[in-house]
Amino acid sequence: MTSAASRGNPVKVVVAGGGVAALEALLALHAIAEDRVTVEVIAPEQDFTYRPLAVAEPFRVAAVRRFPLRMFTEATGAELRHGSMTAVDPARHVVETDAGEEIAYDVLLLALGARPRPAVANALTFGGPEDDAAISRLLEDALAGSLRRLVFALPVEARWPLPLYELALLTGNYLSDRGTREISITFVTPEDTPLGLFGPEASRAIGELLELRGIDLRLRTVPIRFENGALGVAPEGSLAADRVVALPRLEGPRLPNLPHDRHGFVSTDDFCRLTGEEDIYAAGDMTQFPLKQGGIATQQADSAASAIAARAGAPIEPTRFRPILRGLLLTGMASRYLRAEAGTRPSLDVEPLWWPPAKIVGRYLTPFLAAAAGLGESPAGPVREGAIPVEIELDPRETCWSRV
Ligand SMILES: Cc1cc2nc3c(=O)[nH]c(=O)nc-3n(C[C@H](O)[C@H](O)[C@H](O)COP(=O)(O)OP(=O)(O)OC[C@H]3O[C@@H](n4cnc5c(N)ncnc54)[C@H](O)[C@@H]3O)c2cc1C
Repeated sequence: MTSAASRGNPVKVVVAGGGVAALEALLALHAIAEDRVTVEVIAPEQDFTYRPLAVAEPFRVAAVRRFPLRMFTEATGAELRHGSMTAVDPARHVVETDAGEEIAYDVLLLALGARPRPAVANALTFGGPEDDAAISRLLEDALAGSLRRLVFALPVEARWPLPLYELALLTGNYLSDRGTREISITFVTPEDTPLGLFGPEASRAIGELLELRGIDLRLRTVPIRFENGALGVAPEGSLAADRVVALPRLEGPRLPNLPHDRHGFVSTDDFCRLTGEEDIYAAGDMTQFPLKQGGIATQQADSAASAIAARAGAPIEPTRFRPILRGLLLTGMASRYLRAEAGTRPSLDVEPLWWPPAKIVGRYLTPFLAAAAGLGESPAGPVREGAIPVEIELDPRETCWSRV
């Protein structure tokens, strides 16, 4: 790093990206580095899109929320530049943008996310809000009687399985709520247990929900290709299907001048510093960490921010990135809904499985978003019933389900 800190000048931090990791880092730097840093954010969009609620939008149980990026930069005294970073020159400490500008930095924090790519050939790949219209059309077709066999397929390369479980359960509820009971729904997954990553209690609860909803679960099965009315699976066989919904695989951003692996992801150390680069950090989905999840992205951002703040002279010890899967799995509303069907309780709508304001858990981002959206940080009253707290320390080598 140029010796801005040692000269007593604020360290100039450029944050590239306007998503989860970038905003957590921005808020963390503001909180812990204070005026020892100045921050400039470069992002192509005007708004931060809170993607997790995309699974609920086609069912009209929740809407995707958007928050102006300016709200974050104004609250933290940062500068906002609209544009995309096209290259980095680490030797000269500049980034280039698509507008042809060069922006100097003392420290660069990359938070560029990942790009969704189809993983199951010919399936409807659900990558976020942009695919909500396709899910809505699928539901219309189902209600119109033009499909009978629906398969939800978790590809072996998927790195965050929750949205597919939510989609399957919400679809099951949506269709039966409208009296459409003759459609079979199958969930195909390479996992050993459903949502096994979340621990045995959560896994059991999800298994029960799938069963109650009549969703057939095929474990240790890898979906490969959908064609001629069948989903080909490994290790062998196929399943009859009229439509297949799958999650994507993800690819890293592949920046010129920066080393990346064959999937485009960058390698980082314990403090999220780019391997071999003194003044560049990276956080979130663009890193090699195998689980691509918002909570992990914020933990990486916090670790990088603490290291940058310490370098800028803040009286703190940098915190190592120690991945923990944290949140609250909501099974209460869904199970109450299902019991209601058996006639024991009045009907309730079903919600996505992960408590919304904290669907992405970030030390600084969650309270900021909850305040901006006027929501509490944790579920209140009856929603808490049946909620399972999840706090699992992750081993990077065991967060994939690729043993099949
Ligand atoms: C449908 C869905 C549901 C999900 N549910 C959950 C959930 O319940 N809980 C959870 O924790 N996680 C969830 N996730 C995952 C979570 O959204 C991601 O892990 C998280 O957003 C990753 O953060 P990130 O900052 O790395 O990337 P992103 O949030 O994707 O942000 C990347 C940013 O980089 C910007 N960018 C890209 N290229 C450039 C460039 N060249 N120059 C400048 N900026 C650039 C993008 O415009 C964007 O602003 C879900 C994801 C999806 C798609």
